Amino acid sequence: MVRDTGGIKLNLCRMCFLDEPETLAHFILICPILQELREHHIKKYLDPLLKPNSQLTSLLQMENTDKMKNIFSFVTNALKVRSFILNE
Ligand SMILES: [Zn+2]
Repeated sequence: MVRDTGGIKLNLCRMCFLDEPETLAHFILICPILQELREHHIKKYLDPLLKPNSQLTSLLQMENTDKMKNIFSFVTNALKVRSFILNE
């Protein structure tokens, strides 16, 4: 499904039922399907008091290899879940 947001067409996330565009923020911070992976790998790096864009900026600052490995694990596992759910 595609939502037209003022000329920019964004694909809606097909993994969950939030009916939100599949943006980087939705994938990394919001999608409930990825919550368990999020909690396991990257929750400790997220500050819920920040706005989503600030959370992403903060998350993606590579301070150490442990953080880098956790983000890599979150992304690779989340893509496997996405691929499985969408049967791609
Ligand atoms: Zn979603």
